[in-house]
Amino acid sequence: MEDKKVHDLVIVGAGPAALSAAIYTCREDIETVLLEKGVIGGLAAITDSVENYPGFPDGISGMELSDRLRAQAERFGAKIELADAVKIEDGSDVKKVYTADNQVYQTHTVLIATGNNYKRLEAEGEKEYYGKGVHYCATCDGPLYKGKRLVAVGGGNSAAQESLFLARLVDQVDILIRKDQWRASDILVERIKKTPNINVHFNTEISQIVGEGNLVKKVVAKNNQTNQSVEFAADGVFVFIGLVPNTQFLAGSGVELDERGFVKTNSDLGTNVLGVFCAGDVRSGATEQIASAVGEGATAALTIREFLDQVPARKHLDKPRLSMQTDRRSYSGA
Ligand code: NDP
Repeated sequence: MEDKKVHDLVIVGAGPAALSAAIYTCREDIETVLLEKGVIGGLAAITDSVENYPGFPDGISGMELSDRLRAQAERFGAKIELADAVKIEDGSDVKKVYTADNQVYQTHTVLIATGNNYKRLEAEGEKEYYGKGVHYCATCDGPLYKGKRLVAVGGGNSAAQESLFLARLVDQVDILIRKDQWRASDILVERIKKTPNINVHFNTEISQIVGEGNLVKKVVAKNNQTNQSVEFAADGVFVFIGLVPNTQFLAGSGVELDERGFVKTNSDLGTNVLGVFCAGDVRSGATEQIASAVGEGATAALTIREFLDQVPARKHLDKPRLSMQTDRRSYSGA
């Protein structure tokens, strides 16, 4: 169903970058709709504790931070709709965003802020036990395993931080890391070392997740130095091996992606498609920090504001703006 209205801005996603952009645009009377298919706040919302977001010296839960960002955006008039964007079409002056439930949003500008999703191991048994023994979010599913034994996979910050969270709930966590060292920050590695119910196994790669009926029982792994097979008893497996960008819906849109599937932008966060912008973790080169995503959301909003000032159909809304030094592309050409 196509809505006749042409929106000023449709933001795909409702994580920190998206909500931050909406706070800025809505405050400037730029009519803004956010489309979110999952959780408001994105992956940040399901992070147990965010300790490095400035302004919260004691840390803040990802859920609370997301709730606050959402409340702030809605206070200025942002409309958040539950919708799964499946396609973007560039009709030059007006773009169309199609959703899985056959809605079509017409808009002068689009901000892609869809973030990332969890990368899968592709190990035998992973698909079979997905959601019933194999998990990707400690905050969401860790409490199911109180008093049990878990295997965690990965050597980055997510694996370290999430394993520390799990260790507070369960009897034992065995962390399997395929390299001979951590990639996580020193502060987290030090905390892991001081946690008695975490054992770290380097050079260890999962080959199979084995269960009986609906329950995971063990993990079969291999030491990639000695080639020896090793088994770990486990009631559940938590996979923290990085993220993949949510850009599948951009197939056929003309928006340029990098070799890993992240959206390429210029320094003003414009994509190669005029009127389509991108901010946050889904952007090529993003630092994958909530603070950076929020900053990128603000930057994108300012770029979008300048772009919209040049849209003929919106000229009557012109009002004095804060000046910005830019070399941004104008509406009439790239
Ligand atoms: P990372 O990409 O940083 O780390 C991924 C880890 O998983 C690496 O140890 C990697 O090994 C391993 N891995 C990847 N693929 C496989 C595989 N198929 N089998 C086994 N192991 C695999 O991802 P994270 O999710 O940890 O972090 C993403 C970003 O978010 C980073 O920038 C991180 O700094 C940030 N972050 C920051 C936090 C904080 O500041 N507190 C908290 C959480 C995340 P290898 O090294 O061999 O590739």
